[in-house]
Amino acid sequence: MPDSNNFKLDLKLVVCSRCNNAFMVQRKTLDDTKELVCDNCIRLEKRKRELQISVMENVLKVENEMEASIVKMKNELSTNNSKFNKQFFLENIKKRAKALSKSVELLEKIEDSKDEKYIKEYIELFEEMKKDSST
Ligand SMILES: [Zn+2]
Repeated sequence: MPDSNNFKLDLKLVVCSRCNNAFMVQRKTLDDTKELVCDNCIRLEKRKRELQISVMENVLKVENEMEASIVKMKNELSTNNSKFNKQFFLENIKKRAKALSKSVELLEKIEDSKDEKYIKEYIELFEEMKKDSST
């Protein structure tokens, strides 16, 4: 017969498999097939997923803009415009390609670590890319 103290007595101290911090769970929710993950890590995972979606959107946007740049460059070349700054376009494309590979690097770091500083770095990088591509 369960009594009112049962709820408290049923708590068990477990260790989060991601961050190794100890936390309490209700014994009846314990499931051997499930990984033990604390609330902090669950929140972090959720943020990562949201970030990945926005990153994918940004990557697609930057890719489209790079493509548009290349089309523009081709057009400029075919009109033989002497004022056309080929170097500028090339530098622009190089810069974006570099930012894209940096973003992949950061994404891997975010995956591998529990550190939110990479998420912050990532957001800054993409804010910068967005700024660049709109000029
Ligand atoms: Zn954790």
